[in-house]
Amino acid sequence: MSDGSVYVFGLDGVPPELVDRGIDAGRLPNFGRMRAEGTDGTTRSTVPPLSMIAWSSFATGRNPGNHGVYNFMLKEEGGYATDFVNAETLREQSVPVWEYLDAEGHRSGVMNVMPGYPPSRTSGFHISDNITTPSSGSYAFPDELQADIEERVGEYDVDPYEGYDDGTDEANLQGLLDNFFEIEKNRVEVAKLLVEEYPCDFHSLVFSGPDNVLHVLGHVLDETHPKHDPEVARKYDDKPLELLELYDEFLGWVMERMDDEDTLMVLSDHGHGPVYKTINLNSWLHQAGYLELESRPWTRLKQFGYNHVYDAVETVMSELNLFSKLKMGVARTNGDGSGPDLAELLTISRKDIDWSRTAAFTVASGGQIYLNTDDHDEGAIPDHKYDEVRERLRERLLAVEHPERGERVIDSVLYGEDVYGDEYADTRPDLVCMPAPGYQIQYPQTMKTKRVFADPPKTGSHTSMNEMHGIFYAWGGPVKQETSVTVDLTDFAPTACSLLDVPVPAEMDGEVRDDVVDVAPERARYDGKVEAKRAVREVTEELSVD
Ligand SMILES: [Zn+2]
Repeated sequence: MSDGSVYVFGLDGVPPELVDRGIDAGRLPNFGRMRAEGTDGTTRSTVPPLSMIAWSSFATGRNPGNHGVYNFMLKEEGGYATDFVNAETLREQSVPVWEYLDAEGHRSGVMNVMPGYPPSRTSGFHISDNITTPSSGSYAFPDELQADIEERVGEYDVDPYEGYDDGTDEANLQGLLDNFFEIEKNRVEVAKLLVEEYPCDFHSLVFSGPDNVLHVLGHVLDETHPKHDPEVARKYDDKPLELLELYDEFLGWVMERMDDEDTLMVLSDHGHGPVYKTINLNSWLHQAGYLELESRPWTRLKQFGYNHVYDAVETVMSELNLFSKLKMGVARTNGDGSGPDLAELLTISRKDIDWSRTAAFTVASGGQIYLNTDDHDEGAIPDHKYDEVRERLRERLLAVEHPERGERVIDSVLYGEDVYGDEYADTRPDLVCMPAPGYQIQYPQTMKTKRVFADPPKTGSHTSMNEMHGIFYAWGGPVKQETSVTVDLTDFAPTACSLLDVPVPAEMDGEVRDDVVDVAPERARYDGKVEAKRAVREVTEELSVD
């Protein structure tokens, strides 16, 4: 039992080997102290290990099938339209742990947990994340917090890519890295301000820096990467550890201030590994006869243009960082029309697909495939054909080989129902492809239907992608001394509840890790408590607006 505070710090995308290397080199003394005195191990990410899905499971303690955030883009039920996730989506579909804690009278402090916009108005504070926050949006609750941060720490940058392209040349890479470091130094200052002056029972603060830095350095860190250049590597290969030193100093600062009853946990939502080649899943489905395009002139023109004429267009788009802007635009307008119109112009959009002749499709990156079953508006696969079609597609996917490398591209193809819970079965993918090491499964971002395989971008961006295992460390009074544990992302929310002597909500899928911390777990139904709190917040907000 403990009545201390719980500090959970997320470092997005850190592979365990990186921290081990830093500890062994004596450069991360506070990580080293956690490893020596507390518990260390790995976190197991969601399937696929994409940040949006992963942090949603972290926040709710639920399997993706039970919070319904299957990806950054969500397919509508029974149709083909997609919508970008934000914090409202997650709250509509599930309940983040801070709402349960709030219902039990505990204050939570949240920073940069995806999806974070609009910020939650539970007791404590909430700062939104840098994917779903509009650049002009108010990112903090309570309102005074935003003013306090800006006055004392400076501008809180919600878009780390603003002003930079995807790292097409080295000067740009340098600028991008400098910007990431600048932002993370600022974040650490903000985090110190929050810990010191906005005390809470539960702190959940996430730093995106490692993920940003690793994404653009895959070719630098991996000597066998086709784009590896030893000279560039000498300049930048220490950047990831340099960044971890920044967080290590912060962890030491927190450890010094912790009471005997307090618990500190540090985790990553996934790891990272190099990307050599990408596979464009809708283009593959099109080539394999599962996805048919409309014969209308506009679609044919786009298709012809991209396949034969527009190589240059893609280069220009990549130089202007248009794909990232497009993603951000869609994220931040969330369906008001400005993002999707551009998306429609440049990509295979749902309007280009002839649904009556399409059997399978994907709506986002990460390898999730939907079958166009009868319950869709223009469903093409009757119930009695489902198993046969799905099994045949699965076999064909497993047999996909890279034409030049001559190796299998997809490691395993899982059934949706084996990976995901049932609550959001209506929008659940039918198959999930897990790529072989070195491959990334992409959403078709262009109309280049003839090009199934591609290289990762020219120099920088995303030459490294998410892998299944991230770091895990725990330290403090209630923490046991264990080593090499594997913690599921869904275990954090129930374990935090137990550490705060709050009954664990029955619907959380994760386990209370009493092998890691000394607690006596208890489960309970919350029967309307959270909903009542939500209603009160809504009424109070309306009153204060009027
Ligand atoms: Zn992540």
